[in-house]
Amino acid sequence: MKDAAAPSANQTIYLKDYTPFGWQVEDVHLTFALAPEATRVTARIHFAPNPGAPKQEFFLHGEELTLIRAAIDGQDITPEIDANGLRCAVPDGPFLWECEVEIAPIRNTALEGLYMSNGMYCTQCEAEGFRKITFYPDRPDVMSVFTVRVEGDEPVKLSNGNPTSSGDGWAEWHDPWPKPAYLFALVAGDLVAHPGKFTTKSGRKVALNIYVRPGDEGKCAFGMEALIKSMKWDEDVYGREYDLDIFNIVAVDDFNMGAMENKGLNIFNSSCVLASQETSTDDNFERIEAIIAHEYFHNWTGNRITCRDWFQLCLKEGLTVFRDAQFTSDMRGPEVKRINDVSDLRGRQFSEDQGPLSHPVRPESFQEINNFYTATVYEKGAEVIGMLKRLVGDEGYYKACELYFDRHDGDAATIEDWLKVFEDATGRDLSQFKRWYSQSGTPRLQVTETWSEGTFTLNFKQHTPPTPGQDEKLPQVLPIAVGLLNPNGDEVQPTTVLEMTEAKQSFAFDGLAAKPVASVLRGFSAPVVLEREQSREERAFLIAHDTDAFTRWEASQEMARESLMASVTTGATPDTDWLDALHKVVRDRDLDPDFRSSMMDIPTQSEIARLCHERGHVPDPDAIWAADKALRDTIAKRWSEDLPALLDEARVTAAYKPDAEQTGKRALGSKILGLLNRIDGGAAAQVQFDAADNMTLQLTALACLLRAGKGADALARFHDQWREDQLVMDKWFGLQVACADPGEAAQVTKTLTEHPAFSWTNPNRFRAVFGSLAGHHAGFHQADGSGYALLTDWLIRLDEKNPQTTARMCAAYQTWKRYDSGRRSLIKTQLERIVAKEGLSRDTSEMVERILS
Ligand code: ZN
Repeated sequence: MKDAAAPSANQTIYLKDYTPFGWQVEDVHLTFALAPEATRVTARIHFAPNPGAPKQEFFLHGEELTLIRAAIDGQDITPEIDANGLRCAVPDGPFLWECEVEIAPIRNTALEGLYMSNGMYCTQCEAEGFRKITFYPDRPDVMSVFTVRVEGDEPVKLSNGNPTSSGDGWAEWHDPWPKPAYLFALVAGDLVAHPGKFTTKSGRKVALNIYVRPGDEGKCAFGMEALIKSMKWDEDVYGREYDLDIFNIVAVDDFNMGAMENKGLNIFNSSCVLASQETSTDDNFERIEAIIAHEYFHNWTGNRITCRDWFQLCLKEGLTVFRDAQFTSDMRGPEVKRINDVSDLRGRQFSEDQGPLSHPVRPESFQEINNFYTATVYEKGAEVIGMLKRLVGDEGYYKACELYFDRHDGDAATIEDWLKVFEDATGRDLSQFKRWYSQSGTPRLQVTETWSEGTFTLNFKQHTPPTPGQDEKLPQVLPIAVGLLNPNGDEVQPTTVLEMTEAKQSFAFDGLAAKPVASVLRGFSAPVVLEREQSREERAFLIAHDTDAFTRWEASQEMARESLMASVTTGATPDTDWLDALHKVVRDRDLDPDFRSSMMDIPTQSEIARLCHERGHVPDPDAIWAADKALRDTIAKRWSEDLPALLDEARVTAAYKPDAEQTGKRALGSKILGLLNRIDGGAAAQVQFDAADNMTLQLTALACLLRAGKGADALARFHDQWREDQLVMDKWFGLQVACADPGEAAQVTKTLTEHPAFSWTNPNRFRAVFGSLAGHHAGFHQADGSGYALLTDWLIRLDEKNPQTTARMCAAYQTWKRYDSGRRSLIKTQLERIVAKEGLSRDTSEMVERILS
């Protein structure tokens, strides 16, 4: 018996070093004899030399495995094992590899590989978890056909593909589609299925199931509907059909991420699939629908066509995020979806891209790939696809996608392959466009305008500031969607896409009778920071008249940002011209309530901090907090007469449905209640809390009561009502931190960590508490450093159990260099305290070192 220790020294892996694996894997047979402390995994694998690969020693990845036996062609061998895997001599030709290992799922707290959650077995293999199950070439370009036998007393035993046979204490599965090991999955436990069915357009009958713990059956109907809609949508829009007889989804409570697209057996964080009117907010419903779609869409973009190596992660993730955004637009309306996505991009991706963690959409090196499941790879990756679609048009886009599926089905592909299908399908040269994949940082786009004798000219300059490892930047291809409005509000130039390729470029529109007002970067057609000097009159005009929903919203955001920046830097009072322009839109009953609600978005405090930094000011979290408060108080007073009527208008009388129409109304209602709450001392919130028959209304009301300092009773009632429901209790934990006054946020957080229900090894619970602290800008950044010290204590503690979640949470510190020297030195001390921890994981050490650099 030989033990493989924990992986050691941090090693950097480079894209440029890619070499194919020296063997092909012809088939894989796995048997699992399940036991919490000692699961036996037996593998029988046929290897054959890969003619396309250079000669190399035979190496299989393997971590934390106890080898029981290994044999080649029936002969026992003694391989050489280290912390990363195994080496041995092998025959020149094809051979049979047999191997038996023992693992302990119950002791697997990292939640990678095979682990246990609430008594059930489950797996997470992306990116490199399969090597904790058995010795294997655990890399995405090695694809094979898997047959799996699961032995155990658990009533439900699942794996990938189709079920082939089962008996007392065992079940067998066969997945006919070759796949990389990261798509392997196994689930076993006491589960109940919520069934459904779907017939594909060519007539394949597919059994669908959502498996949950007994008691959660009532929270599956929405997810099932979302799955069926996704299957239909992918057929209608991309011509993609499902390819097995069964599609299973399993909900698990302990999960590092949102969900995972394992072939035929998607595994979900229960927070991303379980839904009911009583326990889930409208936002939860929308997110669940999107994630179910996302994982389902991976069946083609990720599974049938996978990634050659992990540097190509955006090939599947950027594209699949783009596809799920298209789906949500189709289900719920494109306008608010786009606005929300841009807010999210600015909130997460721009901060990442403007700080020490900045990296290209396709990174060129990493130590721990789990640290690169980022907003840049996912969300900026999706923006890049959106730009491509705008540049080649819808027809070119779907033609290229069709070619991609035809040409690369069954492949482990690269970004080069993806761009090539666009070049071949449309005849375009994409060599400059490709910079979007290699150049990191957020481009700044400056625009000025000139007007003379009927000709209106837009003059653009682009510039990308330096980012870690990239001092010099080249001009990017920027699709800039523009429209022109007449002074009376009519559109004289409908949306047209200007294609900018140079550092400086001008575009003229002639034959105009009067100087138009330009609406620039419609639909946020490129992920840039737009710098535009524009009068407040023009911005107010766009708020009233722009025909593009995004730029209309952006005009209000611009005015909001300027107003807040003026308060923060000069103590100015809120811009009432903006408030009055916005007021008209909010009162306009011809507009969709969801859009009116979005128009009322106020830039977040961390966005204002980022803006301060962009403009060369040191952000002061207390001043930003005060500016935010003053603004909200001013709006509430200024609109006070209208608020009760607006709240009334937003009331839904029909039976609850999480659809776009009702969701929009409730969203508007929540914003209005938030304002009213500032002048009525919580009275309306109390009424709403007492009467609420759904979580959206209940939770909004609870937040208002907490903010009004009247939440104690409601909080206790909420706790008693939901103490048995873990997902709702996550909200109970998170909301108290989010609604705390800045000076109390750290103390509230600390008190919650002492609550008996603070099960900190559960990633959802940990994130509910500490994600809320990190997201409370003024609370986290208290000048006494209490927020930093508390978070760090817990990161150090969690790292021993769960490196992946710890490393992700370290990103709370990624903006540290923006702040004043006092805060900087407090944070630096905390980061150094993490680095100094003995036995720190590779995940966390890479993150903290990058943040410090
Ligand atoms: Zn994905």
